[in-house]
Amino acid sequence: MKVYEGKDIRNIGVVGHGDHGKTTLAAAFLFTGGATNRLTRVEEGNTVTDFDDEEQARKITISSAVAYLEWNKVKLNFIDTPGYNIFLHDTKGALIAADSALVVVDAVGGLQVQTEKVWSYADEFELPRAIVVNKLDRERASFERAVAGVNEVFGRTAVPIQIPIGEERDFQVVADLVTMKAYTYQPDGNGKGTEGLIPAHLAEVAQKGHEALIEMIAEGNDALLEEFFDSGTLSPEHFVDGLRDAVRGRRICPILCASATRNMGTDLILNFLAANMPSPVDRGEVAGRKISDSQPVSLFVYKTVADAFLGRVTYFKVMSGVLKNDANIHNHTRNAPERLSHIGLLFGKTITPITELHAGDLGAVAKLKETVTGDSLGEKASPVTFPTVQLPVPAIAYALEPKSRQDEDRMGQAIHRILEEDTSLKFYRDAQTKEFLLAGSGQQHIEVIVSRLKKRYSVEVTLKSPKIPYRETIRGRADVQGRHKKQTGGHGQFGDCKIKMEPLPRGANFEFVNEIFGGSIPKNFIPAVEKGIIDAAEKGFLAGFPVVDFRVILYDGSYHDVDSSELAFKLAGRKAFKAGMEQAKPSLLEPIMNVEIHTPMEFAGDLMGDLNSRRGRIAGMDTKGNNQIVKAHVPMAEMLSYANDLTSMTQGRASYTMEFAGYEFVPAHIAEKVIDKAKAERAGIEEEEE
Ligand code: GDP
Repeated sequence: MKVYEGKDIRNIGVVGHGDHGKTTLAAAFLFTGGATNRLTRVEEGNTVTDFDDEEQARKITISSAVAYLEWNKVKLNFIDTPGYNIFLHDTKGALIAADSALVVVDAVGGLQVQTEKVWSYADEFELPRAIVVNKLDRERASFERAVAGVNEVFGRTAVPIQIPIGEERDFQVVADLVTMKAYTYQPDGNGKGTEGLIPAHLAEVAQKGHEALIEMIAEGNDALLEEFFDSGTLSPEHFVDGLRDAVRGRRICPILCASATRNMGTDLILNFLAANMPSPVDRGEVAGRKISDSQPVSLFVYKTVADAFLGRVTYFKVMSGVLKNDANIHNHTRNAPERLSHIGLLFGKTITPITELHAGDLGAVAKLKETVTGDSLGEKASPVTFPTVQLPVPAIAYALEPKSRQDEDRMGQAIHRILEEDTSLKFYRDAQTKEFLLAGSGQQHIEVIVSRLKKRYSVEVTLKSPKIPYRETIRGRADVQGRHKKQTGGHGQFGDCKIKMEPLPRGANFEFVNEIFGGSIPKNFIPAVEKGIIDAAEKGFLAGFPVVDFRVILYDGSYHDVDSSELAFKLAGRKAFKAGMEQAKPSLLEPIMNVEIHTPMEFAGDLMGDLNSRRGRIAGMDTKGNNQIVKAHVPMAEMLSYANDLTSMTQGRASYTMEFAGYEFVPAHIAEKVIDKAKAERAGIEEEEE
């Protein structure tokens, strides 16, 4: 296997909204670049980067994957990433290994919510980017409309460096605005265009585009600006250098053209990427370490995958030095030694062995003992810790019920493996219900995990409807006494307290105020009263949900010299709490979500009606291009199946994001049902309905 130096490497994240053609485009690049010997297709389930069986079954990218090719003596490492909202955590995690981003935009559908999300990730990691307007061969494709949409959202610095000649079925030629040449493609061919002249009827449009591009390039550079003012143009050399500097400096975002399925335009995109995107060494320093072969070896682990045959596979970027095969190095994050045997290059699921990897390259190794995603490794004597990615908190938790005893025994370990791979998941046991809960970004995310548990680990679980984390609180006040008295033979038990309870604002949780004067309860027993109340509040009063947002004022009580104890005062506190809850108008609280929906105009009315029926409150409206943005506050309990419902209401053309906003009172008629259901569950009665 050929070894490349950092300056000859480009690490490119292929990002965009789901279904815009990222995986297909990556497949076309690999074919054009000679890395595969045929054009593979998502439909046939044979692409290099969607190798996972869940991905092939669902025809979507769930987990990012890497493949490479050589083009113009440069090694292009492509990271194909998921574009669906609920798998974007994986995209973000993988982008940290990239040095630039290629944003894929559908020529029919135009810009979508997720395009904006991944755009913001590229901002966060300061990645230079370019846009490919893809699917130009499709009916209703429009390059012009796609560019207008991009400019509206991302600004005028996104500028075409190519234009398509012909659209829909006639798309076959790309005019390059830098060289001012036209390239004609054979549909389903080798991706290499035949050079020719720009047809006369498009000469004017192309010339305008050429000049607009020159202006953009010159804008950020005084010397070029002067040249442009003097001569009205730039010398070819200055044009090429100026373009590269403007791209790397993130001053412009070039827009290119393609049809991925028909493999048209791909050679020009590869030319562009190899010539203009930065190499990893161009990044300079990360965490104070220069990305250079001359530094001590260091690696950053950006991903971990559980492979059926290889076991744990670690994806890493060499941040500095030259990593040799069989190296013994140190995991600085876990403070543990690791031996990297059989290091290799990733090509989808295949790891091709390699003798060494230089600073900036992406590699993989199997069977590390301690290392997980986010770890920094390197020479023990020169420790360095690279920054990790902040992932969003999981939005929704589902209860997993093992089907058999055997499944239960094996579930823990299997999930542990899966958590190593997908660090955005949380797995825990509910203290109240003793259920196993798995929290992720949405229903489909959890479904993929359940399916994986079965296929990979032969662990079968049933997915129960997610638990809504209700809370309880009080609306009124109480003034009560809690008295615990027991006479058992010799020693008795005695504790007695008087408390007031009052509501606190949302989010205040709990406050305990001690107003005992004159020792009606001795000081050492007061914490016991508080403890008794806290314990009881955690167990709930109405339906077993924790009681929050209330204040307790302990103001009187009595004790017995011999019979009083901590335990007795704890029990007195508990009794007082229960009596107080009876009096203080106990009420149920539910989590409310901030929901933001992006939809084509024509669905907006229906979607708002639907939100209404989900007890949602519309909080704002906005338009962006052809899209309407609807913002609403909706109870979490009404949003459980929203991903699927929205897809069927809009033929998959709308998308939404959702995050936790806060707690609010549950309306009385609904609260009653929740309370009844919770009581029935606690009594061990299985409920069939819903
Ligand atoms: P991703 O989710 O962004 O990775 O998109 P895929 O690569 O999975 O493609 C989504 C769908 O669009 C698949 O059915 C592809 O065959 C189709 N597709 C991708 N690129 C093109 C294209 O250039 N033209 C047409 N007509 N269809 C395309």
